[in-house]
Amino acid sequence: MTAPEIERLINLLAKLPGLGPRSARRAVLALIRRREALLAPLAKAMADVADSVRTCSTCGNIDGRDPCALCADARRDASVICVVEDVADLWALERTGAFKGRYHVLGGTLSALDGIGPEDLSIPALIERAGADGVAEVILALGATVDGQTTAHYIGDKLTDAGIAVSGLAHGIPVGGELDYLDDGTLSAALKARRKLGGQRPGESG
Ligand SMILES: [Zn+2]
Repeated sequence: MTAPEIERLINLLAKLPGLGPRSARRAVLALIRRREALLAPLAKAMADVADSVRTCSTCGNIDGRDPCALCADARRDASVICVVEDVADLWALERTGAFKGRYHVLGGTLSALDGIGPEDLSIPALIERAGADGVAEVILALGATVDGQTTAHYIGDKLTDAGIAVSGLAHGIPVGGELDYLDDGTLSAALKARRKLGGQRPGESG
């Protein structure tokens, strides 16, 4: 028999990606054994994040402030917007240090199967941002999954119709690959060798 509060902690941790009930149980035990060094600081860190976390109303990044540090940084190139599915992808690109422009987090991909349409993602906001003065290029850094590529086609067409220059990541991203799982070298190479889209569908040769 475990105390109900401990059971509750285990159940909550077990909801995290990569953790099942078994590993959650082990994690909780490790935390309790290192109460002073780990459990208390972790509880404080979680409370701090819960209090301070914001979603950037411009780009969708998660940060302690809105606009986020990336949007507020005047040294970053506002003429290039890199579109990603998820904040995890933004963080992956930031880790590479290869991109110095601005981001736009879609919050997912279009999916006919799951009934996710453009209005469910921040696509309308992207179209509006991309059409603003001073935006010269939009880079679609979407995963090589079916839904990722469908989303890239859709956005690419919309932006091309609006006369905005669009590019996609170079090949080298494995099919079915999600950005977050790529090593930094592969990701920055795919970004640097990005290719112009325009009329042409991503995935077509040339
Ligand atoms: Zn932002």
